[in-house]
Amino acid sequence: MKNDLSNIKKSKYLLDKNECVGIPTETVYGLAANAYSDIATSKIFRLKKRSKKNPLIVHYNNIKMLKKDCHTNDYFYKLYKKFCPGPITFVLKLKKNSNISKNVTNNKKTLAVRFPRKSIIKKLLKKLNYPLAAPSANISKNISPVSKQDVEDEFGKKIKFILDGGSSEIGLESTIISLINQPEILRLGGIEITRIKKILRSNIKYGLKKKKIASPGQEKVHYSPGIPIRLNATKAKPHEAFILIKKRKLSGKNFFYLCKNKNLKKAAKNLYKTLRMIKKKKYKNIAVEKIPNNGFGEAINDRLFRASKF
Ligand code: AMP
Ligand code: MG
Repeated sequence: MKNDLSNIKKSKYLLDKNECVGIPTETVYGLAANAYSDIATSKIFRLKKRSKKNPLIVHYNNIKMLKKDCHTNDYFYKLYKKFCPGPITFVLKLKKNSNISKNVTNNKKTLAVRFPRKSIIKKLLKKLNYPLAAPSANISKNISPVSKQDVEDEFGKKIKFILDGGSSEIGLESTIISLINQPEILRLGGIEITRIKKILRSNIKYGLKKKKIASPGQEKVHYSPGIPIRLNATKAKPHEAFILIKKRKLSGKNFFYLCKNKNLKKAAKNLYKTLRMIKKKKYKNIAVEKIPNNGFGEAINDRLFRASKF
């Protein structure tokens, strides 16, 4: 606890000086900077080699602070009450007098916002008088990081500090929902669509099939380990790393369980960790057994599909 406090203070010190800091959240680790500062936010794009066209998610500790920057609506309050703090991102209308840096929004009139629930990051946000812009702490298109070590592997000494919060409990990015017009899912993630539908009691649009990309998390190649992936495999070839979700009798050492009993929440948590491990072991090919397309399985399949487009 004492250690956490001094690390939180160190993070604040660096963030106040317009530096980027690696932060833990329940979804994945983020690369954070003062969302009101042009200098600080431009560093995020440089470090991640991220296109300026790809806007950032801004992390808040409370609605009061959010209301300085965004217009809220009934959909927002309903979902906030049920799921926040937690792994859901809302796209809202940006207020004209907001202090959010133009880098964050790519000059758009909308803003993606989230309330993370991990306690160490809530404590940090409480100490700051600005919200944190924080995309995932990986070089663009790579696998998102779920531990301090993963962030170190991505950036080495290029970032000054990573706040350690252990491994990310959810292990997948947040679900992004646009609340600008009729609610529309822009990215699958930590909250299942069926749970969101229950709260809004309406049919929500699921935009991933649209041609126009509203959220670059929808790009075809993304979240990639840089190794070809073969989906819906029934057997693996000897040189392939075989990713599984249920127990099988297998010989050899080339298989990796996301879970052993089709627990898809657990599988989601282990997905990025497993892909990184396979990469470190220098496999050149990956095979994945069929994953049911329901609950968290839908988000896992979405990520694997994009990763397989390498
Ligand atoms: P990352 O945090 O790296 O997972 O990326 C953030 C995701 O949020 C990206 O897919 C962005 O395109 C998306 N995003 C951020 N701001 C907006 C916005 N105003 N409208 C739609 N999508 C957004
Ligand atoms: Mg990302």
